[in-house]
Amino acid sequence: MTAYGDEALIVCDSLVRIYQVEKIEVQALQGLDLLVDRGEMVAIVGASGSGKSTLLNILSGLDAPTAGRVRVGEWDLLDMSAKQRLAYRRSMVGFIWQQTARNLLPYLSVAENVALPMSYARMPRADRRRRVGDLLEVLGMGGKAHRRPKELSGGEQQRAAIAVALANDPQVLFADEPTGELDSQTGGAVFDALRSANTELGTTVVIVTHDAEVSSQVQRTVAIRDGRTASEVLRHEEVDEWGDASVIAREYAVLDRAGRLQLPAGYRSALGLRGRVRLELEEDHVGVWPGEAREAVSDER
Ligand code: ADP
Ligand code: MG
Repeated sequence: MTAYGDEALIVCDSLVRIYQVEKIEVQALQGLDLLVDRGEMVAIVGASGSGKSTLLNILSGLDAPTAGRVRVGEWDLLDMSAKQRLAYRRSMVGFIWQQTARNLLPYLSVAENVALPMSYARMPRADRRRRVGDLLEVLGMGGKAHRRPKELSGGEQQRAAIAVALANDPQVLFADEPTGELDSQTGGAVFDALRSANTELGTTVVIVTHDAEVSSQVQRTVAIRDGRTASEVLRHEEVDEWGDASVIAREYAVLDRAGRLQLPAGYRSALGLRGRVRLELEEDHVGVWPGEAREAVSDER
């Protein structure tokens, strides 16, 4: 028998992250499961405080979970020495943060920023120069190589940040609300740059976003609620009998490994579902009914 997520590039299995602030515990992740396949571009959405950044910090090797299992490629993120963690962060993954200033060193030019991770990885000088040029070209930043970050617009800074993140040809890019500080048009260009990394370079991309426009343009959107994967929207293109293509989106609830399922708030309120509910196994589905009120049960006796 194969284990959970054996085939996936990224496996989060029952991840728990508890922050202790003075005497108060905050459960940022409460048993989160997530699988991402190689080559996917996945959007992660969720209300503020739902645990999105916590998840990305863990996946990028900046933070460790309190419990659970997390693997990216060959890397078991719970079992890495400091040296391995550094190698993981330098070679396996790249990240782009929301705060544009956090992504680039202000006193280096764009080209120098992109070359820096390559020199850490001891890439020969000539290769470095060629690769910096290629990356900036792919990201539409070829003409801005010698500018300092402060001489760029917010959108250009984020595209430069993507080039830095891609410097050592990582297998995965993590982006935490990379378009959050940008207007929608500029944000669209940054999103397009991430998509080119995905389609042209084959990089797996996981992007946290508030932007419905962005999340509607990826094949899979994962919604996180209260530190758990709550639902997923899968999109695919369908061609009708007239040859017109349209994108079909379908929302799925996610059954976690313990068999838990979050019913959307709208469903719960529509039928007054809370506390005890009745479940019935049918031939091809499971029915959920409001539980009988306790008063009604005792009246019958
Ligand atoms: P999101 O990115 O979805 O807005 P976060 O992952 O930042 O959510 O936060 C999830 C929860 O964990 C929130 O309740 C937040 O206040 C808490 N949290 C995040 N980081 C810390 C921290 N360093 N210390 C204490 N609590 C934290
Ligand atoms: Mg966040």
